[in-house]
Amino acid sequence: MLLNNQNTITYRCGVCEAPQIKSVSMFDFVGKGGKAFFCDDCKDANVSIIKRRKMYCVKIFCGDCGEEHIFNIKPERFWDEEVAEYRCPLADSVILITGTLEKVQKRMDELDEEYMTGIFGEEMLEAEQLLVQSLENIFESLNVIHNLARAGKVSCTCGRNPSGGRGGDDISITTAGLALELKCNACGAVKVFSMNELENVDIIKKIKNLKI
Ligand SMILES: [Zn+2]
Ligand SMILES: [Zn+2]
Ligand SMILES: [Zn+2]
Repeated sequence: MLLNNQNTITYRCGVCEAPQIKSVSMFDFVGKGGKAFFCDDCKDANVSIIKRRKMYCVKIFCGDCGEEHIFNIKPERFWDEEVAEYRCPLADSVILITGTLEKVQKRMDELDEEYMTGIFGEEMLEAEQLLVQSLENIFESLNVIHNLARAGKVSCTCGRNPSGGRGGDDISITTAGLALELKCNACGAVKVFSMNELENVDIIKKIKNLKI
């Protein structure tokens, strides 16, 4: 059987979590027991491979569970499999991938994506839905207030803008930052609705007459 004499391993540093891609050659095991791999980032040596009898023993410090794991890999699998992955027995996450550079890199990218959506996917979706809902509420509240103003149901306590709207100095509606501002142009009185208030569309909807 002809084996490849070079392959790639990839893992996340168990200390700093930086992804590592390392090449291994058969010559690494000639005349010596094995090879230790140093993290490119924090320089910690938390992976080593030794050749014991006919097996390649990969010793890896696992950042996912904080333990050390040993994988005994047959030469055929170690050198000839295009991509093989090894999992943490406790966290069940892939912590080591061996194979050709191309396949290993591809698999690592896929796992990264899965990992990210696993962590952030649901939370992000929830936050997004909440945001959409609150924007819809604000929009609806603005509509309600504009309709009240149009119907002449916004009045001022100064009496110069009476309910009914006719003959008054008028009331202006402006958005001020993240709030809605109603202003009596006759006396300058102001009523502000904060975004939080506008989000409570059920309360806004109950307003029949708005007094400034
Ligand atoms: Zn590191
Ligand atoms: Zn583990
Ligand atoms: Zn007024």
